[in-house]
Amino acid sequence: MIPVQGVSGQCVLVLGMGRSGLVAAQALAAGGADVRCWDDSAPGRDRAEAEGLVCIDPLKGGLDGVTLVITSPGIPHHFPKPHPVLAAALAAGIPIDNDIGLFFRSFATRDWADFDTPPRVVAVTGSNGKSTTSALIHHLLEHAGINSQLAGNIGRGVLDLDPAIDGDVVVLELSSYQTELARYMTPDIAVFTNLSPDHLDRHAGYGGYFAAKRRLFSEGGPDRAIIGVDEVEGQVLAGQLADSLVDDRVIRVSVAAKPAATGWWVTAKKGFLAETRKGRQVASIDLRDVAGLPGAHNHQNACAAYAVLRSLHVAPRVIEEGLRSFGGLPHRSQRVREVGGVIFVNDSKATNVDSAAKALGAFKNIRWICGGLQKEGGLDGLGAGLGNVRKAYVIGREAEDFARQLTVDAAICTTMAHAVAQAAAEAEPGDVVLLAPAAASFDQYNSFEARGDDFVGLVEALTGSD
Ligand code: ADP
Repeated sequence: MIPVQGVSGQCVLVLGMGRSGLVAAQALAAGGADVRCWDDSAPGRDRAEAEGLVCIDPLKGGLDGVTLVITSPGIPHHFPKPHPVLAAALAAGIPIDNDIGLFFRSFATRDWADFDTPPRVVAVTGSNGKSTTSALIHHLLEHAGINSQLAGNIGRGVLDLDPAIDGDVVVLELSSYQTELARYMTPDIAVFTNLSPDHLDRHAGYGGYFAAKRRLFSEGGPDRAIIGVDEVEGQVLAGQLADSLVDDRVIRVSVAAKPAATGWWVTAKKGFLAETRKGRQVASIDLRDVAGLPGAHNHQNACAAYAVLRSLHVAPRVIEEGLRSFGGLPHRSQRVREVGGVIFVNDSKATNVDSAAKALGAFKNIRWICGGLQKEGGLDGLGAGLGNVRKAYVIGREAEDFARQLTVDAAICTTMAHAVAQAAAEAEPGDVVLLAPAAASFDQYNSFEARGDDFVGLVEALTGSD
């Protein structure tokens, strides 16, 4: 655990007793704060009390004497409407922060003075590919013999990390909910993967969503920024951060554009990763047969991770070996099994249209299992990837409505069991049965993980030889 610095003797309220809230409360107590906790749900309060924490209702006097409120990412502090406790804190002028802000103010300690290599922090944000990119950076670092810890939206809560050792690198995955509020963000390296619409109600639209992500580059800011420039927002961000054409504090990443004649670029057109500085290619890697990173979207992740490792002075050859040994993450382009020449892929994490479109673009001859709780904006963004679909097998309570919006041949299956059975029966050798729902899972499952596990279980139970 990382004890929070600068809070000794202060009265701090922690709102939300999920995983990150509980750890934040303990880390604050370890830093000498007088900690009060609250959660709207009784089980949340029970969890806190079981850990020896004190719960006091903030709306019944519990805010008296509080000098700082720490809130959890799921609790809105502004849009669509502030949570009543945060509204009261705002009205009373009490600063609000989160565990990410506490981490950045507490990570560096006096012991670092004796280290040969001070610990560094890499922070990853963006709409899609955060988890894959963060896990890949962690894997590449370990492969290169650099001690690394992974935390944030993936893995452990940030304050749950071990205090840093000499040369350590901490890799943080940060969501827009986390970056929109943290009061200090001073990573050494920050990555912006890409941007597409998501969580728009929490950020009052697309501009607010971009502004929330972009705070990672402005509240203290990184020494090096690695920016996906395949959308205009990435171009704007890179343009704002770079002082001149030759400013190599910015590395631009693209899977669509050619590198410009100036600056530092990592690109991957048609599956070839190339590092280019001032117009000269300095390294290249063929990504087409890297099994753990299929498709242009994963090549984008590979480019971003490569750029991080190059920023830490790791040689291209060592990075290439690490890319080849990356196993991928469950529920993201996860190859489950091959049965009779048919490959089954679990991309249950494709909960929005953009990530499903990317998955469809990564494979050919697709038997596509899709559907669930639809997000705003309809299915228009599925794009060219639909051309790779032989047939859709639609699940979800609203399967008929979902199927009606598709321009490909579609069977209404409703359940995963039905969809897997029918897709497996109709698939021919060379086909890919792909779960990439383009929708949330909550109409039928508790989480995208539960949906993916259901798919994997059904695929593993299929008879036939691998
Ligand atoms: P995040 O943590 O940002 O949600 P994940 O790595 O968990 O990202 O991937 C989420 C979904 O997006 C998965 O369906 C995955 O296949 C897809 N995806 C991964 N990388 C990218 C990318 N660079 N661009 C678009 N989609 C991606």
